[in-house]
Amino acid sequence: MTDRCDLLVIGAGPGGYACAFRAADLGLKVTLVDARERLGGVCLNEGCIPSKALLHAAEVIRSAQDMAGWGIAFGKPRIDLDALRARKDGIVGGLTGGLGGLAARRKVTERRGTATFTGQNAVEIDGEALEFDRAVVAVGSRPVRLPGWPDDPRIWDSAAALELREVPDRLAIVGGGIIGLEMATIYSALGSEVAVVELSPQIAPGADPQAVAILARALEGHGVTLHTDTRVEEVEAGDALTLTCTGDFAGRIEADAVIQSVGRRANGDRVGAEAAGLTVTARGEIASDAAGRTDQPHIYAIGDVSGLPMLAHRATHQGHVVAEVAAGHRAALDTILIPSVAYTDPELAWIGPTEAEAKARGLTVKTTSFPWAASGRNLASGGGDGLTKLVYDPGTLRLLGGTIVGRNAGELLSEITLALEMGATLEDIGLTIHAHPTLSETTAFAAERALGMLTDL
Ligand code: FAD
Ligand code: NAD
Repeated sequence: MTDRCDLLVIGAGPGGYACAFRAADLGLKVTLVDARERLGGVCLNEGCIPSKALLHAAEVIRSAQDMAGWGIAFGKPRIDLDALRARKDGIVGGLTGGLGGLAARRKVTERRGTATFTGQNAVEIDGEALEFDRAVVAVGSRPVRLPGWPDDPRIWDSAAALELREVPDRLAIVGGGIIGLEMATIYSALGSEVAVVELSPQIAPGADPQAVAILARALEGHGVTLHTDTRVEEVEAGDALTLTCTGDFAGRIEADAVIQSVGRRANGDRVGAEAAGLTVTARGEIASDAAGRTDQPHIYAIGDVSGLPMLAHRATHQGHVVAEVAAGHRAALDTILIPSVAYTDPELAWIGPTEAEAKARGLTVKTTSFPWAASGRNLASGGGDGLTKLVYDPGTLRLLGGTIVGRNAGELLSEITLALEMGATLEDIGLTIHAHPTLSETTAFAAERALGMLTDL
């Protein structure tokens, strides 16, 4: 007899497992299938978590170096790559193993294998048939590969870079988006001489230019060379990898390893979607509405496969919504405000429209900011340059967006995120008593500055 479930979730990343667990909590009989051995998808296995483990190591190395200026010298770090790799893998293993326990306790049936639709209510998992009432496509994304590059083991995608095979003397990173910048932060701290090549006029395109300039200066201060407005025309593999570039930087870069980080492509083309009547775009995406429904109302798409922004927390929230919808509840993702954080050194975090984006949308906006050079807590903690910047409606003083660059910006952004969700005004933020001395004061100070009541600048 063919197996049957109420809800089949294909892909066990932060979208898929969150959806499966919530649906099981709501009483559905759930099967969760993934082609990889361990739960957690890209995020846990080869994305968010291993990168943050290595970024933590990078931060400690930098902080130790900075302490020389305080009269405390730790000397040059001795890096045991095997031990560092093992520590990272241990963290990942602990988390993915934990997910297995959570699935078992909820009686979610786990299946290993590649699922392919064979009809509107049926899939095959490595040849074995399974029928479902409803299905969730949460199959994620994969790295984009630039065409015409040689096939060479020294050319890495993000997963290979996080394997920490070696610390190359010279590392070239093609693509100065979030992955490229996090990798530059990691490998420059570990000792590589890093060059980043970015096609756009600015690294982290889309983020606030004033904040990005602070990040760019810090990266350059760490020895990272940034080539913006530059295209890699050709890559030759010899004793070294040679990148021929045109644009703002016209010349050659020699490297011992290259990371390609030019974006990710949705995996909607890898699940036999047409057999279920699903439409897949040329970018591999399967579109879904606020309730997660695709053009087949009993099939949902969440996470990276449903399009941009490709972020774990978006996938998770979509997963929860879809579980509720599939269980018969009324639910929808009713926010378009999704925070972005680059966990670089310093961190760059933003939410809502930047000033330029707001103006392009025809909104009348103003900005206010507080420079971290005037933050006692930042100076006392050895922090470098930083900025907290708010975008607001000058008529109502309502907050519309915010950007923070500086240490722990990712954590600090949550206050702005909550303020936006609650429809807060600058007065709400400025009149909230923030503990002193904290970095979070910089958000209140930025608000006070616009209100004309700032005494700290
Ligand atoms: P995924 O996590 O991509 O999981 C999809 C799963 O589906 C995979 O396990 C795959 O094996 C499985 N699958 C695919 N096809 C099939 C099939 N046919 N049958 C069965 N299984 C299948 N985001 C953040 O928010 N914060 C971060 O700090 C962050 N850091 C990142 C760092 C790196 C290096 C990378 C690459 C990404 C990072 N991301 C980060 C992005 C984040 O990883 C993704 O947005 C997130 O993993 C998407 O979750 P998902 O559930 O859509 O799919
Ligand atoms: P991205 O789209 O963020 O950045 C890719 C960069 O490559 C862009 O700046 C683009 O202009 C540039 N580029 C494209 N083609 C190029 C070329 N031929 N030469 C030079 N530069 C080129 O993609 P990514 O950094 O690869 O990350 C993929 C996804 O993973 C993103 O959606 C990101 O949100 C997600 N991610 C998130 C985090 C985080 O939240 N901390 C971390 C890593 C990845």
